[in-house]
Amino acid sequence: MAKNDVDLFVIGGGSGGVRAARIAAGYGAKVMVAEKYRLGGTCVIRGCVPKKLFVYASRFSGEFEDAAGFGWTVPQSSFDWATLVANKDREIGRLEAAYGAMLEKAGVRVVKDRAVLDDAHAVRLANGSRVRAGYVLIATGAAPSYGDPIPGLEHVISSNEAFHLSEFPRRVLIQGGGYIAVEFAGIFAGLGSHVTLVYRGEKILRGFDDDVRAHLRVEMEARGIRVLTGCKVTAVEKAGGHYSVQLSGGNQIPANRVMFATGRRPNVAKMGLEEVGVAIAGDGGIAVDEYSRTTRQNIYAVGDVTNRINLTPVAIREGHAFADTVFGGKPTAVDYTNVPTAVFSDPEVGTVGLTETEARARLAQTDIYEAMFKPLKATLSGRDTCVLMKLVVDGLSDRVVGCHVVGEGAAEITQVAAIAVKMGAKKADFDATIALHPTAAEELVTMRKKTATHLRAAAE
Ligand SMILES: Cc1cc2nc3c(=O)[nH]c(=O)nc-3n(C[C@H](O)[C@H](O)[C@H](O)COP(=O)(O)OP(=O)(O)OC[C@H]3O[C@@H](n4cnc5c(N)ncnc54)[C@H](O)[C@@H]3O)c2cc1C
Repeated sequence: MAKNDVDLFVIGGGSGGVRAARIAAGYGAKVMVAEKYRLGGTCVIRGCVPKKLFVYASRFSGEFEDAAGFGWTVPQSSFDWATLVANKDREIGRLEAAYGAMLEKAGVRVVKDRAVLDDAHAVRLANGSRVRAGYVLIATGAAPSYGDPIPGLEHVISSNEAFHLSEFPRRVLIQGGGYIAVEFAGIFAGLGSHVTLVYRGEKILRGFDDDVRAHLRVEMEARGIRVLTGCKVTAVEKAGGHYSVQLSGGNQIPANRVMFATGRRPNVAKMGLEEVGVAIAGDGGIAVDEYSRTTRQNIYAVGDVTNRINLTPVAIREGHAFADTVFGGKPTAVDYTNVPTAVFSDPEVGTVGLTETEARARLAQTDIYEAMFKPLKATLSGRDTCVLMKLVVDGLSDRVVGCHVVGEGAAEITQVAAIAVKMGAKKADFDATIALHPTAAEELVTMRKKTATHLRAAAE
């Protein structure tokens, strides 16, 4: 039998692949990583990190407005898109280099090339070379998907291009109702664009708690974002210096940029998967077991390419668990319960655990504690905004099974609340915790009055 060149070949240098490579190398494995674009992957290069930098940029306009009520006179502000993009690119470049240095220090060899499977134990690089590997990890992530073709689709951009626009768009139309669409609506609106969000469903943010979905829409509209639901883009036409966007239902909307955030597709095409017997699941992701093993014994897959929970910390955890399992002698399955998540919209959403709808379907008794209130800062700023806090409680065990926050700092609040939810804290534990005053988060430990109790019908 031919000798392997490496113990592990990782295809994809993003969140999952980089973590797996580093930890496997730490266990003494000889590791090679192929990355076809830029080290760091989606999160670092064109996802979480640049997005959050844009979110920070977009929030200054609201702060400038709010300052007046606190006695400040802010001179006419102006925003320079080119400066933001250049500064963001500098930081992303720094992070990319740090990833490279970190892998080098761990003894991992990085090849900047596209890689595909040649057979179950060999990878073919685009430069023609072939590398034999004991194990292969597929961590190729996902890419924007535009849905059904429409006339003028060539004029549409995705989040990938939104990070590099040469000119700041004064009018933006975004199609999509998920977190990326909602976040970019907030970014462009905060930076000064007129934003229209178009979504074919009735409520934005599918999968989130219904009250969160309804409340965020109200807040977005209060910030001047036009939200059109129950319709979709049917054509995009170039009309002089802008685009004319045709919607189902007849509306025609002018825009300088049209962006679709209509989902992401796992990167499985032309990878040689079928040929070596790696099965694809019904949802388009690579089918894996609880240890991220594919249908081939020595081939594993982690992160967005498996389409489980498509978040960076999950991809990282999966990559780490893979390395522990295969090279560390510690079989480790990832626990997918109570994964906290945020939407960096304006205002922010933070959520962990079950939505009210999920809890009512699963539990014999669901108790709801909900509060909607004007935050202290809004009293002087005069901003028309409300914070929403909601706890979903198992009425029989008293365990808090869901926590949902819409308001400033929601993501930071939820990261900490997630520890309590993960530990199985009861509502009584929340009540026993003394409030930290004055904060918005104190509402989570001072909500005494149930707003609803739902009993599941016996037949269900
Ligand atoms: C706009 C946006 C915002 C996001 N915001 C958040 C957020 O706030 N929080 C959060 O947790 N998650 C966020 N995500 C999701 C997060 O980025 C992903 O879940 C995460 O990056 C997945 O990591 P991964 O390792 O699976 O894939 P990726 O990070 O996508 O890495 C895959 C890598 O594989 C490379 N590759 C693909 N095919 C090949 C090949 N054949 N050969 C060699 N290399 C290949 C790609 O170039 C890429 O670098 C966001 C995503 C987007 C698009």
